[in-house]
Amino acid sequence: ELARMTYGFVGADLAALTREAAIETVRRFMPRLNLEDGTIPPDVLEELSVTRDDFMAAIKRVQPSAMREVMVQAPNIGWSDIGGLDDAQMRLKEGVELPLKDPDAFRRIGIRPAKGFLLYGPPGTGKTLLAKAVAREAQANFIATKSSDLLSKWYGESEQQIARLFARARQVAPTVIFIDELDSLVPARGNGMGEPQVTERVVNTILAEMDGLEELQSVVVIGATNRPTLVDPALLRPGRFDELIYVPVPDRAGRQRILSIHTGKMPLGDDVDLASLAARTERFTGADLEDLARRAGLFALRQSLSVDKVTMAHFEAALEETRASVTPEMEHEYEKIQATLKQKA
Ligand code: ADP
Repeated sequence: ELARMTYGFVGADLAALTREAAIETVRRFMPRLNLEDGTIPPDVLEELSVTRDDFMAAIKRVQPSAMREVMVQAPNIGWSDIGGLDDAQMRLKEGVELPLKDPDAFRRIGIRPAKGFLLYGPPGTGKTLLAKAVAREAQANFIATKSSDLLSKWYGESEQQIARLFARARQVAPTVIFIDELDSLVPARGNGMGEPQVTERVVNTILAEMDGLEELQSVVVIGATNRPTLVDPALLRPGRFDELIYVPVPDRAGRQRILSIHTGKMPLGDDVDLASLAARTERFTGADLEDLARRAGLFALRQSLSVDKVTMAHFEAALEETRASVTPEMEHEYEKIQATLKQKA
């Protein structure tokens, strides 16, 4: 089992793994050792052994040298850092957080949780944020990548990178794998990347890896795209990215909440009216609103370095030079897509 689980480990990594496992054992027995006189009580000595769990804990800590480029993160974003998107949050709680936290509940009820989720919507609406938050709330590790990183011109390299990605995800499970720009996994001409054969191989490798994920094996894949109509249909078949979640621009209440999140650490003047700002920022994305708050702060600084409050006048000035990045046409287009995708599902 250990040989199977140590994909990508070279000799030195295996040596480090054994050492880490032994350290884990010592840690477990620490309270029962006589540290003062340096002896080990006979009954403890009898029991002292490196267990499977010690190795499993060690595997999560040792970074195999052949997988250095697969970065495992522990995100510090939670649900409370996200404004609006109640529907998306709820679906991720049910679909990802619950099964990762309590797989037995799903086993008992006999339903199969999805392995893949596709978040789609305009850029800057919080797709990456949602994926990080659900990983953190599920106490899972987070591995982020994007399609352009997976498309390598060198024959075989893409497949290897994907294999390393999934292997590492299994080693440190529970894990959320986040793949951004999922729409780029279609043949595109002229950029040197995404040659037809390469993209096809990459898509097939991802599909094979996802098919290989056993249910409730505690690895979940979340994809994201701004252009859902371009995503290869093979990726959307059952058992793959079959849960589609729309991440729209925030409504008024959502905008107010996002503004309050991004002004949370600012010394705000009493006249700052976030409700009024929310009412006047239609189609602003979360990223636009964050930008608005930052600009208001900069205006305050520009006025005087000793200023200690950001006032409504600073926000008004910032609003003058900030635009919604989503147009009514774009929003309409996304809503049409959502209606079509819903129908298909
Ligand atoms: P996407 O992945 O959809 O392109 P991101 O999640 O990367 O967008 O968002 C970019 C930044 O904009 C975030 O880091 C965050 O600061 C801000 N932001 C976007 N959406 C929200 C939201 N719903 N609530 C709070 N902040 C948001």
